[in-house]
Amino acid sequence: MTKTYANLIDGELVTAGQTFEVVNPANEQVVGLAPACGKEELDRAVSAARRAFKIWRKTSSEERQKVVQGIAGVIKENADELFRLLTTEQGKPHAQAQQEIYGAAGLAVAQSTLTLDDVINQDDDTRLSRTRRVPVGVVGGIVPWNFPVMMAIQKIVPALISGCTIVLKPSPFTPLTTLRIAELIKDVVPAGTVNIITGPDELGPLITEHPDIDKITFTGSTATGRKIMEGAAGDLKRITLELGGNDASIVLPDADVEKVAEQLFWSSFSNAGQICVAAKRIYIHEDIYDDLSRAIAEYAKTVVVGDGSQQGTGVGPIQNKKQFDRVCELIQDAKDKGYEFLTGGDVDPSGTGYYVPITILDNPPEDARIVAEEQFGPVMPLMKFASVEEAIERANNSEYGLAGAVWTKDTDKGVEIAEQLETGTVWINEFLHISPLAPFGGHKQSGFGAEYGVDGLKEFTYPQVITIKRDARV
Ligand code: NAD
Repeated sequence: MTKTYANLIDGELVTAGQTFEVVNPANEQVVGLAPACGKEELDRAVSAARRAFKIWRKTSSEERQKVVQGIAGVIKENADELFRLLTTEQGKPHAQAQQEIYGAAGLAVAQSTLTLDDVINQDDDTRLSRTRRVPVGVVGGIVPWNFPVMMAIQKIVPALISGCTIVLKPSPFTPLTTLRIAELIKDVVPAGTVNIITGPDELGPLITEHPDIDKITFTGSTATGRKIMEGAAGDLKRITLELGGNDASIVLPDADVEKVAEQLFWSSFSNAGQICVAAKRIYIHEDIYDDLSRAIAEYAKTVVVGDGSQQGTGVGPIQNKKQFDRVCELIQDAKDKGYEFLTGGDVDPSGTGYYVPITILDNPPEDARIVAEEQFGPVMPLMKFASVEEAIERANNSEYGLAGAVWTKDTDKGVEIAEQLETGTVWINEFLHISPLAPFGGHKQSGFGAEYGVDGLKEFTYPQVITIKRDARV
């Protein structure tokens, strides 16, 4: 029988009057049912979070650390069950699902020890002035479907560590693993500090506009990010937005073709390309373009696209039908325009499961949709450049500014290029590495604020300055 999962509200596992189906993208079968919450359940969750905040805000950092490490502990203890469930609802291959589960636990441990220490602004005969950080209050967390567990943990952990409480909404496409974690942490987190409620997209605006939520932390598309900003404007909620990207890699002529081909492949095709910081445009110097593009395409032919639960699968299906249709549309557009394909391009629309073959385009023009738009799927355009200046200009020619990479033996040159890229993160000779201790955020339309590290933690707090007048006459 199909399992109906429960929400976590005020320390209790609760269901709603209605449920919705969650589908396995590998075979389009229903995997489980999740509660379809609306205003009533949201109000209950927010009230619980508000009550819990009054107590939680006064806890010591040691106490918060213990709870967060407890969350990491249960995730690790149940990792086997969790990563299999994650593959079933999200589609990613088991090995990548395992990485996400252990990565989320690792993130919780790494961030559990972060603290926001007081800062002394002035300490002399006239004044002692000190800045402390105080938690903003009740946080609304809204997450997407590409890394459902990692994204949930990266909202829950800094909220708790900073002294806030949270109401988290998973994506309706991938709520189940998060709800299983909700069951597992029920007795680990104090009642009301972490509330997890599921529902359709319509639940999102109710969270954004809720008068008793103080801050929204959101990961998702730039289009939804704009709506969140509008919704949060009514009562000037604090917001952190992690949005889309159209991340460029620049490969200089000194890069070793054999060594970088496989790495470049996975920088684009991990998680079937559904990563905000996946390489979505790869600019290769003309001296090595032919050799490198051939090597990437050859490697691509060795990677199996299929059901992520099957051994040997390297690239799983697209997570949902809407995204599948969008990726197919971009491929069709490339075909209609007569662009060259190095591999892939033929989708079987009648098959079961949302499978898109690994598709690599050969030097499409800069204004091609596949270059100008975020594809968020296993389709990668390789482009030729002649000069570094040209590559930098083309890489920066985007409304997005999330991440980028430079591949070269000359790391000084790499840094020189990195400093000219208009993105929040630039990697030299790697991709997709996100440190739990460094700020991660987008420039331009890729985001607002940052997550991770002390900078990320600060976003869950207000600064408060307390000044003592030392030579006062009272
Ligand atoms: P999405 O914006 O459609 O949905 C994200 C979440 O927002 C879901 O939980 C959804 O239910 C909710 N939502 C939908 N409409 C809403 C509204 N009007 N108000 C409030 N909430 C609403 O995004 P998606 O399709 O789930 O995810 C893909 C996008 O996310 C891509 O653009 C990708 O680049 C981006 N992303 C960014 C990062 C990052 O860290 N920058 C990470 C992962 C994904």
